[in-house]
Order: sequence, then structure tokens, then C-alpha cells
Amino acid sequence: MTDLTTLGIAAIRDGVRDGQFKAREVAEAFNAKVAGADALNAFLVKTPEHALAAADAADAARAAGETLKPLAGVPIGMKDLFATKGVATTAASKILEGFVPPYESTVSQNLWNAGAGMLGKLNLDQFAMGSSNETSAFGHVISPWRRPNDTAPLAPGGSSGGSSTAVSAGLAPGATGTDTGGSIRQPAAFTGISGIKPTYGRCSRWGTIAFASSLDQAGPMARDVRDCAIMLEAMAGFDAKDATSLKLDVPNWEAALSTDLKGKKVGVPKEYRVDGMPAEIEALWQQGIDWMRDAGAEIVEVSLPHTKYALPAYYIIAPAEASSNLARYDGVRYGLRDLPEGAGLQDMYAATRAAGFGDEVKRRILIGTYVLSAGFYDAYYTQAQKVRTLIARDFERAFEQCDVLLTPTAPSAAFALGEKQADPLAMYLNDVFTVPASLAGLPAMSVPGGLDKDGLPLGLQIIGKPLDEQGVLNAGLAIEQRAGFTARPQAWW
Ligand code: GLN
Repeated sequence: MTDLTTLGIAAIRDGVRDGQFKAREVAEAFNAKVAGADALNAFLVKTPEHALAAADAADAARAAGETLKPLAGVPIGMKDLFATKGVATTAASKILEGFVPPYESTVSQNLWNAGAGMLGKLNLDQFAMGSSNETSAFGHVISPWRRPNDTAPLAPGGSSGGSSTAVSAGLAPGATGTDTGGSIRQPAAFTGISGIKPTYGRCSRWGTIAFASSLDQAGPMARDVRDCAIMLEAMAGFDAKDATSLKLDVPNWEAALSTDLKGKKVGVPKEYRVDGMPAEIEALWQQGIDWMRDAGAEIVEVSLPHTKYALPAYYIIAPAEASSNLARYDGVRYGLRDLPEGAGLQDMYAATRAAGFGDEVKRRILIGTYVLSAGFYDAYYTQAQKVRTLIARDFERAFEQCDVLLTPTAPSAAFALGEKQADPLAMYLNDVFTVPASLAGLPAMSVPGGLDKDGLPLGLQIIGKPLDEQGVLNAGLAIEQRAGFTARPQAWW
């Protein structure tokens, strides 16, 4: 009997449909894996009964001869940024400790409607702010990957580090992520899995705890490109409850998957050759270019001249929006309340926020408040918005010459926990390749390309035109086929 936890989403779906195994067996197998992986700290809440109930519904539907739903029998992990009705949701912050939402986010509801079950809520950087999962108030997630002969714990990437860990350690066949500046793609790259951020507006933000609303976008993280396509189809769709939701039908991405890139042009942006980029990343990028050519694509060099301003613009815009979004955590309506003896309302706000928010969240609120304040607004916020427009225009021009862009996902492999924590700038620099597509709202994906000299995964990023998730997925699949990436971390936990 195969270990069912070695199967991905497509294999589970097909196996349940064809009667090779019961959905209940799948849920039980993953629940057991989750229960045995506490050392990774990937789960903030476990919900084995949710996974079992969805599995039983799938088995009952099959027994009754009904057509099965697209994710019938597939258990998944849910990033704890999505509000789940009746299940504690904290965004990994003490300020939301004890908060149990009375409502369900649209993305999670879409997944349940498609038949998926929930294994639990996944750890993340606090309010999705971070690149290493070290800002969680409930402990670091530890990557299942290690360097050979070295037990130093590595970062699983962030902010979706619980998601990347759950999928790469085989605790879930797929997990939801959110991506504001790279939080699906960078953790996917660090852990040898795939993840796609769709075009801004494809997935509803309703019920997803807000970080930076003009950038936040949900997407799937899974073992391969096909599984990402299947899961994204279930997550996406118009939602009247999100004013930025796109009123468009969800394409059947899985059915249109193809690895034939004949007639396609792949752009290689020269500005992504940043100073100090490790030779291995450079080599992997060249390898990716060769794979694209092998798949029939023509390679063109393109220019994205404003790339170097993307990171500074992002670290103004994202904190500005965060400072506004996080004003709602005041001790009155949600979660934590710190009411010192004899304190007034203002004191309560201050005490609650001082006790409830972590350092990185406070840093963002301070930066955001500063750049939005009278006297500095034009110099920082207005300027950053102008830069954002220029970056979007760079992409528009580049896409006149090509169909997709190929870049590395991150400038390094996974770093050690603690290595960058003391230096916020070093941490922010890790987002250099992912942030531009976020600012432009473009679909972008990371797929595993190979291993570095220490045996750690490296990812390649594909960026597409607005709404061309298909082009992104197909280029990703062409890489996946050629990379033959099968490495998995050895279970030490
Ligand atoms: N690492 C980036 C940040 O800290 C991106 C986070 C994200 O995409 N949620 O803002």
C-alpha cells in the first residue's frame, strides 16, 4: 500500500474518484503526519475533524454515484491569515489571540465548496510581514530542509512559512498562501515546492486579514504546477464582497496546461542581474533560459529600467497601507485588550497595541504613519506611487516584446534562522525579485529549479501579463519537466 501522504492533489483527487482508496484514509494519513510534526511548528491550530468530515462527504458522494467535486477528498492546510468560521484565527499575532471569527473568508469557503477539507491553520510571519517566519508571535516555523551534517535550523521563507513547510514536509498536499511582496513565491523557492500568485483581483480578499490591500493576493502552494492550477481554480472567482475583485470567469487552467512553448517569447530582464548575486543563482537562471529554449521558446533580453526603485517603493507603500489597516486593532473590537488600572480610552489603545503587536509590525506601523504624515506625504508616499506607475509601465513595455519573463525567485537559498533577524534591511533585500510583480499586480510563480551546493532548493520565477496565469503555468510546467526536481527533505522531526 502506498503511503498516501506521498501523493499530490491530482493523484488524491483521481484516486478517490477511481476508488483506489477512500478519502477517509487520505485524511487519516495526513492527520497522523501533522500530529507527528510538532517540531516544525508549522501548525497553529490542528483541525483533524474538519479534514475527516470533508473526506466522509467525498466518500458518501462517491458511494451514492454522484459526480465528485473538484477537490473531493483533498485535505489542505490554511494559512492563518484567512478567517475560518469557528476556528481561531490570529495572523500569528498576540493582538488577535483568542479571536474566533464568526464568518468564513471567501477563499476558504470556495475551497470547502470544492470539497476540500482543512488539516489546520498554518503559522506565518505576524500579519504576513516578514521573509523568514521569525516575526510570528507563536514561535518560528523550522524548515524541514537542513544543510548536510548541520543541524542549524533554516528559515522556511516568509510570510507563508507554515504553508511551505507543511507542503514540503509532506504534511499536506497543498496549502493556501498570500503574497503581498513575495510571500508565496519566496517560501516556495526556499522549500522546493511550487506556488503561484495570480493577477491582483483573481482571488477575493474578503475575510483575508489585511496587510497592504492594494497588493495582497491569495494563491496556492503545492508540490507541482498541475496541483497549483487545480487549487487556484477552486480559490479564484468574482466576489461582490471585495470591491477589487475581478468580474471574470475562472479559466480551466488545468485542462489547458501545455509544455509546448513554440511561438512564445521569454523575456530575460537585464536589471535582475543584481550586484553580489551568488554564482549558483546566476547559473540556475542560465539553466532556466536553456530549458525555455529547449521547450521551443525564443529568448529575448528586455529592460525593466525602474527595477532598482521597486524595493524602496514597496517598503513605503506596504507599511503605509498596513498602518491604516492595522488601526482597527484597538482593544475594543477584536482579540487582546490591555486596560491598565484607572486608564482612559487612549491609554487602553496604547497599552493594547504595545502589548499586542510584535516588533516588526510596530516598525511597519511607525514607517507607514511617518510616510503618510503631513509634510512627508509628498516626499515619500506620493513619490512611491509614481514609482509604482513607472514600474507597471516597464512591464507593459517589456510585454510588447515577450509573453512571460524568467528570473530567479530569490537572491539566495534558505538562510539560517537568526541570520538576518537583527538587520531588517538585509531581510527586506531578500524580496528584491518578487516585489516588482506585486507592485504591478501581475501573475507570478515560483517553481523549483535545482539545488545549491549545500543541497538546498533554488526557485525560478515566471512573471506573466495581466490575467495570463495560463502562460505562467505553462512556462512553469516546461521548467518542471526539464528540471526533474524530486528532492525532498529527510524526515528528522
Ligand atoms: N517579505 C515581504 C514583507 O515583509 C512580503 C510579505 C508578503 O508578501 N506578505 O513585506
